[in-house]
Amino acid sequence: MFCPECEAEYVEGVHGCPDCRVPLVPELPPPPQLEYVEYVTVLKTGNPIVLAMVKSILTSAEIRHYVKGEVLQELFRVGTAEIQVGRDDEPEARNLLREFKLGTGGTG
Ligand SMILES: [Zn+2]
Repeated sequence: MFCPECEAEYVEGVHGCPDCRVPLVPELPPPPQLEYVEYVTVLKTGNPIVLAMVKSILTSAEIRHYVKGEVLQELFRVGTAEIQVGRDDEPEARNLLREFKLGTGGTG
């Protein structure tokens, strides 16, 4: 038997953890999985200045974001970086980019 709080193992016959005051469980639950977040691209740019602007906009809005291709761009100044945000943050990110006239446009 295990305590789900402190993960201490107890012998049979013990039904609660005296330290945590919680009932014991036969098996410890598996470790929590990393939260899966689906990322969507909100902007593609080959311009490092735009990239830096967008990153600072998203950071100040506390939108978790991820830049795909950034390393390549910083090293070689070529290619296109994609800024991706979590699916949940996409509408807000797009609104912000639109305010700054940085959106990808499009009809969708
Ligand atoms: Zn415990």
